[in-house]
Amino acid sequence: MAGASVKVAVRVRPFNSREISRDAKCVIQMQGKTTCISNPKLSKDASKNFTFDYSYWSHTSEEDPSFASQRQVYQDIGEEMLLHAFEGYNVCIFAYGQTGAGKSYTMMGRQEPGQQGIIPQLCEDLFSRVAQSRCPGLSHSVEVSYMEIYCERVRDLLNPKSRGSLRVREHPLLGPYVQDLSKLAATCFADIADLMDCGNKARTVAATNMNETSSRSHAVFTIVFTQKRHDELTGLDTEKVSKISLVDLAGSERADSSGARGMRLKEGANINKSLTTLGKVISALAEMQSNKKKKSDFIPYRDSVLTWLLKENLGGNSRTAMIAALSPADISYEETLSTLRYADRTK
Ligand code: ADP
Repeated sequence: MAGASVKVAVRVRPFNSREISRDAKCVIQMQGKTTCISNPKLSKDASKNFTFDYSYWSHTSEEDPSFASQRQVYQDIGEEMLLHAFEGYNVCIFAYGQTGAGKSYTMMGRQEPGQQGIIPQLCEDLFSRVAQSRCPGLSHSVEVSYMEIYCERVRDLLNPKSRGSLRVREHPLLGPYVQDLSKLAATCFADIADLMDCGNKARTVAATNMNETSSRSHAVFTIVFTQKRHDELTGLDTEKVSKISLVDLAGSERADSSGARGMRLKEGANINKSLTTLGKVISALAEMQSNKKKKSDFIPYRDSVLTWLLKENLGGNSRTAMIAALSPADISYEETLSTLRYADRTK
């Protein structure tokens, strides 16, 4: 794997009712870290293998030992990233894949016990680790923002009354930021859970009003975690600030596959551009870390709003993980293969 700091996982979901009713066949197989996809139109030998840090299988039965539960995915990926944040790194977790493949399930999940995704589990873990590490001289603060990027425009999901889009600007020292984006303090998990709920509702309402689905926008949930230490002996204060960005990307299905026109075509072009730029940025950074690329080489952050805003979370002092969500069904073969190729290029 090129850059040790980019973790790449793929996760296949169980069949949905539509696939079952169409008697869909499974084109994915997983063994250890390897994911194999077979072309339903060709013979069994025409299969392709990919290797990732994790290949997560989902049987319909949770009793199956190879079943990757929400807990498992969090423990492998979310917890590692959270520990990096405690060390002071910026971290970023993305979910990539076609609409309906399981991105939101992986990132947010559902309310029922055991069904919570990476974001709520990470927030809960963050506060319980903060409580455990309490000691004199050490203090913590947590600030949350939640935005949606749709057609290169930013919407504040924590301030649904704010109309229109917000401006993206660049601070000479602190880097890119969204002007006037709400940043709300959270002192316990319940605070964050409320904010998450409020943001998720705002996302759905906005989507309905604009006759669009949230699958065409990127949702970026950001936690700014600050650890302050006061040394009694020297009287010195030190501060570690880490930004944790948790991103549910827009559906990766190609605009042309649905015969899109007008606004839909524009949406598709914007989504493609930001996903392609994200892929380019991550692989350029991975090459840099493995010394195949020089530090001065150009990294195209500014080619999309998503990558521009995540600049501080992707380059330099940061750790990144990507989870590519896959449908198991033969009817999604082309999209699933393109998701696997994207994930493979990100390594
Ligand atoms: P996306 O965000 O990629 O559009 P969703 O996360 O909404 O897709 O998933 C589509 C449906 O499949 C949802 O009903 C979700 O609960 C279910 N689902 C997705 N992944 C899994 C999984 N690994 N295990 C069980 N159900 C899943």
